[in-house]
Amino acid sequence: MNLFNFTAHFGDEKSCRLHFKEQRDKIGVTCKCGHKEHYWIKSIWSYECKKCRSRTSLRSGTIMQSSNLPFLVWYKTMFLLSATKKGFSSREIQRKLGLKHYEPVWAMVHKLRKAMGKRDDRYTLEGMIEMDEGYFTIEASEAAYKSQKAGRGSKTKANVMIMAESTVLEDVETGKKERQCRYFKAKVLDNHLAEKTDETIKQAIDEDDIIVFSDKSTSYVNIADYVAIHITEKSNEQTTKETLKWVHIAISNAKRNFTGNYHKIKRKYLQLYLNEFIYKLNRRYFADKVFDRLVIAGITRL
Ligand SMILES: [Zn+2]
Repeated sequence: MNLFNFTAHFGDEKSCRLHFKEQRDKIGVTCKCGHKEHYWIKSIWSYECKKCRSRTSLRSGTIMQSSNLPFLVWYKTMFLLSATKKGFSSREIQRKLGLKHYEPVWAMVHKLRKAMGKRDDRYTLEGMIEMDEGYFTIEASEAAYKSQKAGRGSKTKANVMIMAESTVLEDVETGKKERQCRYFKAKVLDNHLAEKTDETIKQAIDEDDIIVFSDKSTSYVNIADYVAIHITEKSNEQTTKETLKWVHIAISNAKRNFTGNYHKIKRKYLQLYLNEFIYKLNRRYFADKVFDRLVIAGITRL
């Protein structure tokens, strides 16, 4: 979806609504009574259950539920979020759309980032997985300031687990081996305990036949218990460039992206920024389709 296509298809409120309805109809609407067949009441943009007659508005049950922003604003925002690899802060989106109030824009963008995360959570990684942790700069918490452990506005680090599906491919002619990667995951870890790490990994992978590559961190002691093979290497420059190549590329790209986009990051929102980054990274070969996928992710948020 480029800018010309976007404006041609979504020039006004009505065309956005019609598109959203069309996409929602494809997925199907389920009434609270469980029935799936509905009438469409055009005049009030709502579905009516053929069985119990209760009504579901076009927004209800989707990402737009309880938002007062026009569909057109949502569509423009989804376009902006999916149009570039770089992305935008909520502030920048507010400015670009010429909207008066920041709060609703901020809420909308966060909901979209949440939907991106939920969408990616549906999929698990398989095969060979590179795994490592990255330390992301965030604002020190208000609590740390109050207990005088940190000054107001001072920085601290958050620990993020990054995983990448990575396959070793050998060039038939040269015999040179290269790691190619497909899907990524990034999850904020609340602490360094092995238990938390295990929980995060188990949610991210398809446990059968997994081979995990990581460094020798103590929080990884249990991994061998639930994956097929766990290969650890002492971290050094070599591992960064080879065994854990893709996770390290992802970590440094994410960091650069965040520094460019966001003035400051609070711990509680870090996962949302990661969601957006990873969502787009995982769909890097989708080209124009990222926008359409994002609309679908917004319809099926529940
Ligand atoms: Zn019903």
